[in-house]
Amino acid sequence: MSPTAYDVIIVGAGIVGAACADEFSRRGMRVLVADRDVVGSGATAAGMGHVVVMDDSDAQFTLTRYSQRLWQELRHDLPDDVEYEQSGTIWAAADEEAMAEVVRKHDCYGKRDVPTEVLNATRLRELEPNLRAGMSGGLLVPEDVVLYPPCAARFLMERAQSRGAELKLGESVVQIGDGTVRFSGGAEVRGTKIVNAAGAYSVELTPGIEIKKRKGHLVITDRYPGFLRHQLVELGYLKSAHSVSIDSVAFNVQPRRTGQILIGSSRQYGAEHKEVDHDMLTRMLCRAQEYMPGLASMTAVRTWTGFRAATPDKLPLIGPWPADKSVFLATGHEGLGITTSLATARILVDQITGAKPAIPIEPYLPSRTAKEVTHA
Ligand SMILES: Cc1cc2nc3c(=O)[nH]c(=O)nc-3n(C[C@H](O)[C@H](O)[C@H](O)COP(=O)(O)OP(=O)(O)OC[C@H]3O[C@@H](n4cnc5c(N)ncnc54)[C@H](O)[C@@H]3O)c2cc1C
Repeated sequence: MSPTAYDVIIVGAGIVGAACADEFSRRGMRVLVADRDVVGSGATAAGMGHVVVMDDSDAQFTLTRYSQRLWQELRHDLPDDVEYEQSGTIWAAADEEAMAEVVRKHDCYGKRDVPTEVLNATRLRELEPNLRAGMSGGLLVPEDVVLYPPCAARFLMERAQSRGAELKLGESVVQIGDGTVRFSGGAEVRGTKIVNAAGAYSVELTPGIEIKKRKGHLVITDRYPGFLRHQLVELGYLKSAHSVSIDSVAFNVQPRRTGQILIGSSRQYGAEHKEVDHDMLTRMLCRAQEYMPGLASMTAVRTWTGFRAATPDKLPLIGPWPADKSVFLATGHEGLGITTSLATARILVDQITGAKPAIPIEPYLPSRTAKEVTHA
């Protein structure tokens, strides 16, 4: 038998795999990262880069906030091209029903020490004058951040490499298990631990995990400096993001440092092809224009799609895979993988090294779903 060459082999050099490589190497482990494409491709290249605290569940809140704090700690080390901007989020309320949600969210975040400000209609208009007239108000979450994910992934990977991590690009992994990673060309590499960080494709390497592809569209405009100042998200976004069956669109726009505006977002199950779906795109842009009529006269310079890795309970899978003691999962981050990548890496490496994690890890353990698989 060939000797074990690496302490850890990570499959996937997206933001999650890169964050894991950074964290494993920081703790002195011998790391290999393998990706069939380039660093920061996959969903990482397609995502919006909104580092956002979300409160769909306690576990989601805890993970997103912990990770946001890790991004805050990292910000001074990040190169300029990561475009880290603490722009803040405004959850926009179109009517009184949405305003009730503003109040609920304000209480919820306040109890967990996340600063927020309730905005009435006048204050909302001062902060974002290009929203349509007649909005009821909103909730400002000033600590939310915008960044450029592919460059963040590249930074994390290069830092891991500077500590000795190795990177193998351009060849697919076809099998993992029993401490071995097998490549499409037939080569095999051994590692004590193998981390499946292959995003929406992780199920191909670990059959039995419950990950579905959830397609999303984004559009980026030409440069319109000053038109938009915060990431603006409609409060109905929660219904859209958390519905587990229906195709949906929501108003979600982001100011880029360049003055461009990134317009989202859509969610679709069962769409396997990467092509832009023009019906979905039209629905998404109409929704955006309902909230910001001025978008209608802007020039779009690019449109693209990406696939989120969605789990049934909307929480990622972080930890050992019960069916193979060499395999660990770091996948299933759906629309929050940029936000939660750093926390994912921390709690995964804590589990492997026996360190005490800063947050309870149970909600994210793959064993929560593996029980059903094992007994199926
Ligand atoms: C439209 C859209 C908007 C989003 N907006 C946000 C946002 O604002 N904020 C946020 O936090 N998140 C957002 N997300 C989610 C976020 O982009 C993802 O959760 C995150 O990028 C997942 O990172 P990852 O490293 O797990 O996967 P990926 O980035 O997909 O990386 C997986 C890597 O694995 C490689 N790979 C796969 N299979 C194999 C194989 N067999 N062999 C070798 N390599 C393999 C791929 O090439 C890829 O590089 C968005 C996603 C989409 C689609």
